[in-house]
Amino acid sequence: MYIAQQVAFLITLTVAGILVRRRVLFIRNNIRLGKANVINDRHGERLKNMLLVAFGQKKMFKRPVAAVLHFFIYAGFLIINLEVLEFIIDGFFGTHRIFASFLGPLYPWMMNFFEALAVAVMLACLVFLLRRFVIRIPRFWSSEMTTWPRLDAALILTTEIVLMWAILFMNASDQLLQQVNEHYVSTGTLYFSSMLMPLLESLTPGSLLILERFCWWFHIIGILGFSVYITYSKHLHIFLAFPNTYYARLEPKGQINNMPVVTREVRSMLGLEAAAPQAPSEPGRFGAKDINDLQWNSLMAAYSCTECGRCTSECPANLSGKKLSPRKIMMDVRDRMEDVGKSMASGGPGIADGKFLLGDYITKEEINACTSCNACVEACPVMISPLDIIIEMRRYVAMEESGSPAQWNSMFQNIETNFAPWKFPSSDRFKWASENS
Ligand code: SF4
Ligand code: SF4
Repeated sequence: MYIAQQVAFLITLTVAGILVRRRVLFIRNNIRLGKANVINDRHGERLKNMLLVAFGQKKMFKRPVAAVLHFFIYAGFLIINLEVLEFIIDGFFGTHRIFASFLGPLYPWMMNFFEALAVAVMLACLVFLLRRFVIRIPRFWSSEMTTWPRLDAALILTTEIVLMWAILFMNASDQLLQQVNEHYVSTGTLYFSSMLMPLLESLTPGSLLILERFCWWFHIIGILGFSVYITYSKHLHIFLAFPNTYYARLEPKGQINNMPVVTREVRSMLGLEAAAPQAPSEPGRFGAKDINDLQWNSLMAAYSCTECGRCTSECPANLSGKKLSPRKIMMDVRDRMEDVGKSMASGGPGIADGKFLLGDYITKEEINACTSCNACVEACPVMISPLDIIIEMRRYVAMEESGSPAQWNSMFQNIETNFAPWKFPSSDRFKWASENS
């Protein structure tokens, strides 16, 4: 019986491992479609960001209630996984509660702590479900939150609740089995699950054993299924928030990454430096028309997006009724990567499928509505910058297509000829002072 369970466990673990690996390689290849960008500086600051923002959830605490609830789920995920470790060792070796023999009297403490966390996770998930589907907080119902993103959130929250119930029922049936079989490993009293024991007291030892084993299998299959599922879901942020915060921009938010070749040209035009002779090279594309024009870290950011909508809820363009939603920008980048990746995986044309991020996924109307205010960047709990992507696409429209709105084009022309956005020669700039003296 134990051998059959061990074999079944190994098969389940192997299948889950293969599926996760395949998906991780798929995502890695998609991120590699982005432009190279070597980030190898200020390691201390980067590490600090990762520890404070990804591990410590620092930016979440701007909204304390959601932050505390999210923290329960996050801590539950990290800490209850220690119990999953015990599941895996038991599954491998056909043992039962192997940690109990090592931890002795500490084991009941640990299990009670896990159970308390499981209850906190259930309550937090329940509140999150209520916020989304009963109170219907607007940012969870805006237009980009179509059926799949809403279903994704509901599935994860419901699965977590069911998995936590499985732990509690497993422990309750286990404690009853300990009472009828003295050879059963003792867990001591587990306070939360023991509240469920009256519900199970009428069951025979055989039925209790089936229930205990069912909950064990349900939990482990649930966890393994969850690990495959999150690679398709916004919940990938559980892992990608760490590299994303590490590789996030450290420059002041208002600083825009200029293109060195353009900067040199402008400086020479303003007489600030002599134009350096350039080695002939393949002219690259100015700005971004598709995902392969964006830097790899912008693509990774799209996979790290939690779809929380904090960026959109702070975006002045969105709030004033414009068609722009920074969350949608990140979701579109991810959708484009997924489409290109699937096309490549099936031997299709991949990036050369005749579609482009700009035009087929994101419209000019959206990117032109951005005020470059950085409110979205400030609001993002995992340090994503939708603005970087918007600016790259606007740069493409302005420099490659001359397709900016007509008012902007006259401003660009004024800057080029008058060194200011206005239609006055630069020599007249200080006339106002002499006229008023
Ligand atoms: S930078 Fe653009 S997208 Fe971001 S909040 Fe401001 S207007 Fe919205
Ligand atoms: S970009 Fe950041 S703030 Fe916006 S939805 Fe994604 S995770 Fe949330």
